[in-house]
Amino acid sequence: MTIHDLTNDIRYVKGIGPKRAEIFNKLGVLTVKDLLCYFPRRYEDRRHFKTMDSVRNDEYVTVRGTVIDIAARTVKKMMLVEALISDSTASIKAVWFNQPYLLRTIEKGVTIVMSGKTEYYRGLQIRAPEYEILNDPDDDTIHTNRITPLYPLTEGLYQKSVRKVMYQLMVNDWHAGLTDYLPAPIRERYRFPGINETLRAIHFPDEFDMLERARARIVYEEFLFFEIAVVTRFKTNELYANHFPVRDTDGCKNGFTARLPFRLTDDQLRVIDDIFSDLSSAHAMNRLLQGDVGAGKTVVASAALYAMVKNGFQGAFLVPTEILAEQHYRTVRAFLEPYGIRTGILTGSATKAERKNILAAVAQGDVDILIGTHALLEERVVFRSLGLVVIDEQHKFGVMQRAQLIQQRERPHLLVMTATPIPRTLGLTLYGDLTISAIRSLPKGRKEIKTYWIDEAKRNDLYTFLKKKVAAGEQVYILFPLVEETEKSDLKAAVAEYERLCDTVFPAGRVGLVHGRLKKEEKDAAMNRFISGETAVLVTTTVVEVGIDNPNATCMVIEHAERFGLSQLHQLRGRVGRGTAESFCFLLGKPKTEEGKKRLEIMTRTHDGFLIAEEDLRLRGPGDFLGTRQSGLPQFLLANIVDDQEILVAARDDAFLCIKDGTAAQLCDTIFFTRKNSIVHSS
Ligand code: ADP
Ligand code: MG
Repeated sequence: MTIHDLTNDIRYVKGIGPKRAEIFNKLGVLTVKDLLCYFPRRYEDRRHFKTMDSVRNDEYVTVRGTVIDIAARTVKKMMLVEALISDSTASIKAVWFNQPYLLRTIEKGVTIVMSGKTEYYRGLQIRAPEYEILNDPDDDTIHTNRITPLYPLTEGLYQKSVRKVMYQLMVNDWHAGLTDYLPAPIRERYRFPGINETLRAIHFPDEFDMLERARARIVYEEFLFFEIAVVTRFKTNELYANHFPVRDTDGCKNGFTARLPFRLTDDQLRVIDDIFSDLSSAHAMNRLLQGDVGAGKTVVASAALYAMVKNGFQGAFLVPTEILAEQHYRTVRAFLEPYGIRTGILTGSATKAERKNILAAVAQGDVDILIGTHALLEERVVFRSLGLVVIDEQHKFGVMQRAQLIQQRERPHLLVMTATPIPRTLGLTLYGDLTISAIRSLPKGRKEIKTYWIDEAKRNDLYTFLKKKVAAGEQVYILFPLVEETEKSDLKAAVAEYERLCDTVFPAGRVGLVHGRLKKEEKDAAMNRFISGETAVLVTTTVVEVGIDNPNATCMVIEHAERFGLSQLHQLRGRVGRGTAESFCFLLGKPKTEEGKKRLEIMTRTHDGFLIAEEDLRLRGPGDFLGTRQSGLPQFLLANIVDDQEILVAARDDAFLCIKDGTAAQLCDTIFFTRKNSIVHSS
């Protein structure tokens, strides 16, 4: 074990010791290498000293001067340490709270550098600055007089001590013995610094330019490692043979469109071409279909199912909720029954006898298309000849579930659909094994949904407006994030609000209620009354989020809109505007955070689901956006899928190249900047 062995336990690093080691361990920092990869969260430019006469209120400053006086006093049980510091131009006061030991560490007469925020309190002062005493003014300073790193902290871990530890590492050249395994041609192509310079610059940069290049190298390595894994997976998946080929695709297309009640949009036709060409190719299809809410994905899926059945195979259509299963069952049946295609449904609420019947029919091939919820996954449903699996609202399912359904010896075709469009680069990364199609335009005649963020004070005006709409024969959703009032929460629950609306706002008998805790029959009955128009107003929780289709509904009211994520708001809004009448969405809510305000504000001005997805991703980060576990995305050290897209694309291209020239495996072994165990091999 040499002193520069990076696998060494961090306990042996100067300045750490057992107690601090334990805290670091909890953060996943076990070895010297982990410590080297414990990167600053941000940096502060403390290189430039301000002369004290130029310091203003409410700014972040670094000053240097002599300690003229230092003393403590107690104010309201708080111990203040106040020091007067001066340079040749003026003097300024510094103040620290509850740190009496400073009286001992900062002596009168020493030269000190301080960085902090100024405030005005009986005169200008710097509040709780970070400081450093310069014994010899030429000393190499750690905390000030430089571009200073700020590390992520946790309980028991302090900025100055972490910084000191890191500085020790650099001074003792723990990193200097490293071999740089990143091939020189790559380093030269991107102007990446060498490994030692990279480490030095990411912790204690001399210049921002160098920091940027060091960061780029780290991000690149993380992406390269990840992309090699993704691309490898992509390559193997490509090789499944097509055991369920579709012949006469033109005939299928004409046959299917002949009896449709509407004309397909150009986008829909193009995607159907994509799909049919997959279905008739040498390999099993692996396609992701993105399309905004209301873009008309179901009919496209139906075309694919039609082609399958015409060629003697079966299809499965997997959806996330029962209500949606019922609805898709009705829609798909309406599209396909005229051709003599037999559809069936299987959900968690089927009786034992129903289940037995349907399973038998599917096994014998008496049912051509089976629509269902994940009950379809849980049961070992045996098909006579399952050729195509369609998964709707992909983001509601895990990648593992997707794999489960298609795990039969003869791999069926796979079509996954999502209304949460994924930004292109992220799509490549997450679904590297899927080809992507998109429906970008909405069917003709659709209008933008007018969206307003309205104040509580306008609630009665809103009801007046809704009553007018209802009187004109249109329908309204009123949506709540909760089902029941909880003691702790001041949210108006859907149930209470339902009662209030029935009693005081809308005509008797015209308001319905659906929420997650109703029995299935009650839920179905309420949905059906709304779809048939018997009720005009549906008070509901998020069960309407995905896919429900009632073209006569024109108004959507979202209560406590601040509780919903951006993509979810967009999904919810998509429940209206599905017919030709003008539609409205009203957002009620008082967001407490800037981010929350931004979400609602974006909703009022944007209707493009792709843009919204990008914004959402930016606001929340990919982990929250997709759910890290299910997305198969690793926790990156520094890389950010949204902001570092350019590097991501470069790394992806390079991943293809090095897989081709056979260097990928070796590269993966030697890449320094990655959490090796972070990649979830999903499908
Ligand atoms: P989503 O992509 O959100 O799943 P749907 O498939 O539910 O969208 O389609 C939304 C509505 O638009 C449905 O009522 C559907 O019948 C209708 N629709 C789909 N394609 C067209 C089209 N080309 N012209 C007119 N209406 C269409
Ligand atoms: Mg849909």
